[in-house]
Amino acid sequence: MADRRRTRAAPTVALMGGTVADRHGTRRADVLVRDGHIAAVEAGLDPPTGSLVLEADGCVVAPGLVDLHTHLREPGREESETVETGTRAAALGGYTAVMAMPNTQPPLDSAEAVRNVYELAEDALAEVAVAGAITVDRAGERLAPMAEMAGLGVRLFTDDGCGVQSAGLMRRAFEYARGLGVTLAQHCEDRTLAAAGAMHEGEWSSRLGLPGAPGAAEDVMVARDITLARETGAPLHLLHLSTAVAVGLVRQAKAEGLAVTAEATPHHFTLTDACTAGYDPAFKVNPPLRPPDDVDAVKAGLADGTVDAIATDHAPHSPELKDLPFDQAPPGMLGLETALPLALSGLGLPVERVLGLLSWQPASIARLDPERGGGQGGPVSPGAHANLCVFDPAATWTVEAARLASRSRNTPYVGRTMTGRVRHTLLYGEPVVVEAEAQR
Ligand SMILES: [Zn+2]
Repeated sequence: MADRRRTRAAPTVALMGGTVADRHGTRRADVLVRDGHIAAVEAGLDPPTGSLVLEADGCVVAPGLVDLHTHLREPGREESETVETGTRAAALGGYTAVMAMPNTQPPLDSAEAVRNVYELAEDALAEVAVAGAITVDRAGERLAPMAEMAGLGVRLFTDDGCGVQSAGLMRRAFEYARGLGVTLAQHCEDRTLAAAGAMHEGEWSSRLGLPGAPGAAEDVMVARDITLARETGAPLHLLHLSTAVAVGLVRQAKAEGLAVTAEATPHHFTLTDACTAGYDPAFKVNPPLRPPDDVDAVKAGLADGTVDAIATDHAPHSPELKDLPFDQAPPGMLGLETALPLALSGLGLPVERVLGLLSWQPASIARLDPERGGGQGGPVSPGAHANLCVFDPAATWTVEAARLASRSRNTPYVGRTMTGRVRHTLLYGEPVVVEAEAQR
């Protein structure tokens, strides 16, 4: 696998006065970064002459965040987002790595398409890993050349945007994936049940007169794929889990010892289907926003370890595409710039648990962690790659559409005050965000 790690010259940086938090716990320490690596972690550090000193007073200094689910829209939908604008939004949100989803135009279903995204990402503001498609054209009919893509370092495969509808084809994909040593990630949605649903099927869809998709559309595919993962012994990652039944199925699968992991999005643990009452398409997502019982189950799953990661499902849509009547608008909302504060305030978990969900656990699922030779999610200790996120957990800020780095504006959090703000982000030692401003 080619080493795509950044080689930009990085200055010596001293992060002063913060609290370091990683998988080993928290401690007060200054951090010295040199040549892209962490050189020292100690209290009372004396910054060498000529180093860039960044204040981290009152801040948490943590491994950079890792997003398992980012739609960068390039190639094909550059009016909504590009690799450059999407990774700038990521860096501002504290992310140092994102997994680019394959539902671009054309889709990422071949070695050539994967190589193209790697090239687009060479100078990006975050490390970009690619999820390859499971089937050709994401059409669910024939397996894509997964071996070729795996040869380029692709470790996660998904037809995200759609679930693979055929159980027979999915079983073959699992057998193939097991041989390649890669993970299949499923967007769980049975099309015959979801049909033309524009929101969750329930009390609110009846009241609003909008077509609903039942929670069962997600549940049956989660159950089916856990069954296939058990039978084939291949790992399964479940994307954007959103129902109480699905969380329960994953809890059972883990108790059984199956290689099943799951993620949930900030919108699925902070918003409910009642938000749809104003017919604002900003609240249209897939899977749809769910009733409070499902939201509580997702939060409980994140708290007890059933759900391994918070993933954004950052899904930019230009205003021309998104500002349509609710039932016609495409699903999806932005996520990269607001995930950290929503997770810090929405889950009631200690900061190091939240960071596990946002950084080292997703790094491990993406196989970007140090245990697998990657530079993401590792402990903040000398010798490690300097992918770092420095944030003030008490700072408040208001989401302003005009200040978002994303090329799109489709977030329902505009005008909302957030608690927790990213101050600096270091990407392989390069300060890409300083004092909450992107540096390029
Ligand atoms: Zn999806």
